[in-house]
Amino acid sequence: MTTELLFRDDAYAQRATATIVAAHERGIEVDRTVFYPLGGGQTGDAGALIRASGERIAIADTRKGESLDSVLHIPAAGISQLEPGEPVMLEIDWPRRYALMRLHTALHVMSCVVVAPVTGGNISPEKARLDFDIDMSLLDAAHIERETNALIARNIDTETVWISDAELDVRPELVKTMSVAPPRGTGRVRLVKIPGIDLQPCGGTHVRNIGEIGAIRVLKIRSEGRRNRRVEIALA
Ligand SMILES: [Zn+2]
Repeated sequence: MTTELLFRDDAYAQRATATIVAAHERGIEVDRTVFYPLGGGQTGDAGALIRASGERIAIADTRKGESLDSVLHIPAAGISQLEPGEPVMLEIDWPRRYALMRLHTALHVMSCVVVAPVTGGNISPEKARLDFDIDMSLLDAAHIERETNALIARNIDTETVWISDAELDVRPELVKTMSVAPPRGTGRVRLVKIPGIDLQPCGGTHVRNIGEIGAIRVLKIRSEGRRNRRVEIALA
């Protein structure tokens, strides 16, 4: 079952009405969702499904299902008794998601300050990190923090651009993140553009204007292996 991914066109949608498609031991499926499933290094959303009776079913996590664009909403309290066809209101934990959006977008900006292949990454509501294939001596926390914050202060609008798989094939330089292959299979790839700063394939959720990030601070820099020099950041 394919779920309509409302966050893809509007990352700011906090609520939506939807219809239950299935509820089983792996999670709850609906026909459309504002919940972002774990992927591309970004943590899955939490929130609630609200029944017509007003009963709230807390959602602890969101994961991708087996088929393309299917989404599993994982209840905090185990299996819920929901029948296919039942209408529900979806509501994400917005402060948590907005922190994820700000940190996620901050990583895009930081990836243009540290110029090296990205070998890993992760975004949680409290902190985010990128791993680079770079010499440790080239990573300076004060420099990364200052340059990233200087770019953020330019208050540039982010844009979403779609290109075909074939166009991406002839522009391999767009793919910075070696550990996360761009999502394929639909014939087109979503790019996130920060004009003058960054352009890369990404299926995650981003803020409309990088100024919304505010500022970041570098928490730590450490080596996790020769090709994984880790830079961890938080919102300032
Ligand atoms: Zn992104």
